[in-house]
Amino acid sequence: MKIKCVEIYKLNVEFTHPIKTPIGQLDCARNVAVKISTDNDLFGWGEASPFAPITGDSQESNYSTAQQLARLIVGKDPLAIESRMAEINAFTISEPSIRSAFDMALYDLLAKAAGLPLYALLGGEVSNNDRTREIRTDLTIGIQDTVEQTVSRATSVIEQGFNAIKLKVGRPGLEDVAHVKAIREQLGPHVAIKIDANQGWDYPTAVANIQAMEPFHLQYAEQPLAAWDIDNFQKLRQKVALPICADESVFDDKDALKLVKNGAVDYLNIKLGKAGGIHTALKINAIAEAANSKCMIGCFAESRLALSAAAHLAVARPNIHFIDLDSAFGFKGDPVIGGMSYDKKIGGLIHLAETPGHGAIFKEHCLEEKITIAASM
Ligand SMILES: [Mg+2]
Repeated sequence: MKIKCVEIYKLNVEFTHPIKTPIGQLDCARNVAVKISTDNDLFGWGEASPFAPITGDSQESNYSTAQQLARLIVGKDPLAIESRMAEINAFTISEPSIRSAFDMALYDLLAKAAGLPLYALLGGEVSNNDRTREIRTDLTIGIQDTVEQTVSRATSVIEQGFNAIKLKVGRPGLEDVAHVKAIREQLGPHVAIKIDANQGWDYPTAVANIQAMEPFHLQYAEQPLAAWDIDNFQKLRQKVALPICADESVFDDKDALKLVKNGAVDYLNIKLGKAGGIHTALKINAIAEAANSKCMIGCFAESRLALSAAAHLAVARPNIHFIDLDSAFGFKGDPVIGGMSYDKKIGGLIHLAETPGHGAIFKEHCLEEKITIAASM
């Protein structure tokens, strides 16, 4: 089997509400779609959702890099993922989002060639009992709201049946404490609440906030400090009881190793868009597991296509314990056919497709600016 051609598209998906984080606002997901086709008529789809403040790449840079990555792999064996990803990862140290799109398209192809859903290809249990493949995502509440708005949004999230909330924090001083206190009091003790500061605090502010939030029984604090501040991650972990999770500090397996070796974190947030795909995500999870540390799986602004790949990975690896795959809730439309779906009644419950691969394809009319890189065969 050889790669016959790679099609590259831009994919713009409008948000219902713009997403504000301490490091940037998003009005629209500006993604890139990749379709890898073979000489025996199989194809695999991938998606990149670049977010420059974190991943350092953009739709424009991904679209351009994709053409170079395509030229690197056309005419070659798509099933030799170790070799293909070695080539792709050696081509550039940056552009992790588009590397992940190629990676998930290759895994989609590999699973289709094996006739297996992706989770099963990755070693997940195939059974007639749907429950073995159920995962449940939290829903994120942004940082732009007042205390009253945070409470009202949290209430509506729980009314939709969710059992977990991720609250964005990182306001100055101790302003975040009132938000956490108010939603814990409103929602009662049984809803899981985690906070994500997106690097918004310095060390003293992080210590003060996390200590002040102790009575409200949070699940963990994600990226309280700057991505580079590993020394203070380590100090913070000694100082507070709340588990600490790294997100922007962990892109790949080397970052994961450094963090666990330094005793800097309790949990690691894997995002395919940071890791450059499933191939490296599996290594991060293996390092975490060896260090007795759990992983979460997160997202940027992916549609259900890239979320499908992430959900299959999470189902196949129970050490990926915390699920934050909620980006597709924020879209006005849905550019995807098949793949993972959100349960209509139980908020956050994710169902996987049982079709081979990750199960998702794009609606062609949602894709723009097609460019095809073909092998000379
Ligand atoms: Mg995060």
